[in-house]
Amino acid sequence: MQTKAFATQSPTTPFGPHVVDRRAPGPEDVAIEILYCGVCHSDLHTARGEWPGVQYPCVPGHEIVGKVMAVGAKVSKFKPGQLVGVGCMVDSCRTCDACQEGLEQYCNGPVGFTGTYNGPVGGGENTYGGYSTAITVDQHFVLAIGHDEKNLAAVAPLLCAGITLWSPLRHWKAGPGKKVGIVGIGGLGHMGIKLSHALGARTVGFTTSPDKVDEIKRLGADEVVISKDEKQMAAHANSFDLIVNTVAVAHNLDAYVSLLKRDGTMVLVGAPPTPHPSPAVFNMAFKRRGIAGSLIGGIPETQEMLDFCAKNDIVSEVEVIKMQDIETAYARMLKSDVKYRFSIDMASLKS
Ligand code: NAP
Ligand code: ZN
Ligand code: ZN
Repeated sequence: MQTKAFATQSPTTPFGPHVVDRRAPGPEDVAIEILYCGVCHSDLHTARGEWPGVQYPCVPGHEIVGKVMAVGAKVSKFKPGQLVGVGCMVDSCRTCDACQEGLEQYCNGPVGFTGTYNGPVGGGENTYGGYSTAITVDQHFVLAIGHDEKNLAAVAPLLCAGITLWSPLRHWKAGPGKKVGIVGIGGLGHMGIKLSHALGARTVGFTTSPDKVDEIKRLGADEVVISKDEKQMAAHANSFDLIVNTVAVAHNLDAYVSLLKRDGTMVLVGAPPTPHPSPAVFNMAFKRRGIAGSLIGGIPETQEMLDFCAKNDIVSEVEVIKMQDIETAYARMLKSDVKYRFSIDMASLKS
């Protein structure tokens, strides 16, 4: 299938129209018409060559929602017309310990998991993501969407931003009686506020943008801290069970580590192109505080998150854009000027 897409040809080339070839569905495949695709900061890191190993042409997009067009003979879970999603992965080895546990994002196979765009993490043939009108994906990596179709643009960001926060919140047991901080209230962070609140944790947002404070409370935060204000930060010393840090640029971590209780953990999900300054060891050692990392989420937990969100009426806050406006969207994302996720209406690419 010759499929319309938007691609960049190098780290410095603006996005423009491109055509990709999608395979005809094999026995296990689902062919999907893409209706909306969220814009993740990882799309920008990749397209601009900020991370190593980027292959061009680059067609980003891993917050895909759409409708099933056709299914292969062995596909039992999906049928034509059904609303479905595709997140950050389209394949993995299926046999290693991580895959067997439903944690495909940590696949130990020869090349790791296959990203929806930019191919397998260990190198290999390029893959092309959701900035396109259709995609063919193995049924194992297709998610069922229970939300109403009218909310579809706002469901798309759950496929990366949602699961990337859901996975650490669940792993580190966010819930009643726990105090959880979310640092950086962009695409990932605003989902962190909504999900942590819905899981019943006391939720505090950390932002560099004073104009977002009221909205962050409306999204579900019990409190909001301006992270540049030392007094406001000090008021929360030694109090957090868990902090999830989504910031996309390198910064001093010590100020947040000091806010953790004994045995508290700060989980880094933001993936800046350059390393954070090394944290102060005594600040961690004296209270057995931990710094950890977390990568997106596995397929079973992604389905769990989507079902939880459908049941609890949770979607992302989106600004719907045309595919042709992607350069402006990236420029605004770099200025933290997005409330809180861009979602591309793929009808703009079809016309
Ligand atoms: P985003 O929408 O751009 O949000 C990042 C937020 O960080 C901004 O809205 C801003 O929030 C804050 N921020 C920006 N510049 C800052 C600075 N100089 N100092 C402190 N805070 C700053 O990005 P996103 O899509 O949420 O992605 C965030 C990061 O997570 C990216 O690096 C992305 O690649 C990564 N990511 C990781 C995973 C994973 O699996 N680990 C998955 C998806 C994305 P405030 O205005 O509130 O300060
Ligand atoms: Zn992403
Ligand atoms: Zn595997």
